[in-house]
Amino acid sequence: MKTPILPKFDRNNGWLEILPPLPPPNIAKGDLKTNIVVIGAGFTGLAAARRLAELCPEKQIFLLEADRVGNTSAGRSSGFAIDQAHNIRAKDFADNLKVEKDQLALNRAGQDYLRKIVTMNNIECDWDESGKVHAAATEKGNKKLEAYAQNMNLLNLPYTWQNSTEMKNLTGSDFYKSGLHTPGTIMMQPAKLVLGLAANLPKNVILYEDSPVISINFSSPHSLKIPKGNIIADSIVFANNGFAGQFGFQKKNLIPLITWGSLTRSLNKSEKQSLGGQDTWNIIPADPFGTSVRRIRGDRVLIRNIYNYSSELNAKERDRLWAKKKHIQSLKNRFPALLDLEFEYTWGGPLSLSRNGEPAFGDLGKNVFGAFCLNGVGIARGTILGKLIAEYILGEESNLLQIVLQGKGPNRLPPKPFLGWGVSLNFANRRRIAGLEL
Ligand SMILES: Cc1cc2nc3c(=O)[nH]c(=O)nc-3n(C[C@H](O)[C@H](O)[C@H](O)COP(=O)(O)OP(=O)(O)OC[C@H]3O[C@@H](n4cnc5c(N)ncnc54)[C@H](O)[C@@H]3O)c2cc1C
Repeated sequence: MKTPILPKFDRNNGWLEILPPLPPPNIAKGDLKTNIVVIGAGFTGLAAARRLAELCPEKQIFLLEADRVGNTSAGRSSGFAIDQAHNIRAKDFADNLKVEKDQLALNRAGQDYLRKIVTMNNIECDWDESGKVHAAATEKGNKKLEAYAQNMNLLNLPYTWQNSTEMKNLTGSDFYKSGLHTPGTIMMQPAKLVLGLAANLPKNVILYEDSPVISINFSSPHSLKIPKGNIIADSIVFANNGFAGQFGFQKKNLIPLITWGSLTRSLNKSEKQSLGGQDTWNIIPADPFGTSVRRIRGDRVLIRNIYNYSSELNAKERDRLWAKKKHIQSLKNRFPALLDLEFEYTWGGPLSLSRNGEPAFGDLGKNVFGAFCLNGVGIARGTILGKLIAEYILGEESNLLQIVLQGKGPNRLPPKPFLGWGVSLNFANRRRIAGLEL
């Protein structure tokens, strides 16, 4: 096996950096033995390890994380735990009713599991069930909202229209012409959430951080090499999103992308007064390639946009600076009066997409399992797939499990370098079409 590419994360993630410093990591060292290893402590791995431990209190589970919990994609996300997912492949967010209904059921179950854990453990993560607003800045964007509303009608989902005055009352900005409020999305501070999930794992889960798996000898039992030792385990669960490809799984079917977020410093008193609007709000763009914007507690503004292809799987500094320029433009377009409001943090995080939008789920080999390729909506979806992979391993049955097991998995992609060229061209075109929604 070739040496796998490992995740590399800088310390520019605003969500994490505004929190108190992390305690030292618990690093895996020496010769260790366990029942089950879960690789990756994002939403999927945290849920998989938890569920395995809940169902098998007599078993020990190691949760191995290459970096620090909170500093990887899960803690870098924008904090929308979405019920009806934002499908960037579909022209108007949705492709097919049956698929949408199934996705809705899965995402809601992911939200329910998260809600239960957050409530039971009093996890303080700015949990907010007030929903999100899909917002349009242009007539073209408004047409997309109308198409989206049709889709919501078919799914029997509630929504309310907001006119430009209501959008101004919400955001303080004249930028948006219309909006569609959908109550089913849950918002939170993502780094706080994953840190809280990790801090409240069942006792039979041991979390190791700064402990990447660097090679595996698949056998009975398996032997996993980590920088400071070796782990023998009966079973392995791959919950490391696009990095699962580095161990040979679905490698040719995963599209490696980076998307970017920026967080401003806190607004000062006069900026708050001149801006107006509500203290917190959450916007998803009318165009899937547009800009998500949040005003979060502590009077900061979050901007998230730009997808770029990255064959190295990790975010590059050159691309970070380019994304920051785009974020500055998106901020100025929305808040032209806040001339001096600058970004304190800009960060990227890897995502994994498949051409057909399907995740990889189930058996990968003897006592080797996986749930990965979350298609950019992993807060709710990763949580439920993590829970379900644990239930699958332990022989449980459910309708949700049937839905995922009937999935076809990621389909084949064009070979490199054509894949990278094709994706980059497509994205440039989609950014152009998004126009002012970006
Ligand atoms: C800027 C940004 C904004 C986003 N906004 C949203 C949003 O609002 N809503 C939403 O639902 N999704 C959002 N996403 C996507 C979301 O972050 C992902 O879909 C989600 O994190 C996937 O969860 P996961 O647990 O499967 O994978 P990840 O969160 O990527 O976790 C995988 C983990 O595996 C670890 N790992 C990899 N290789 C190894 C190894 N060899 N050994 C040990 N550990 C390893 C990684 O370090 C990582 O922590 C966003 C992503 C980004 C970057």
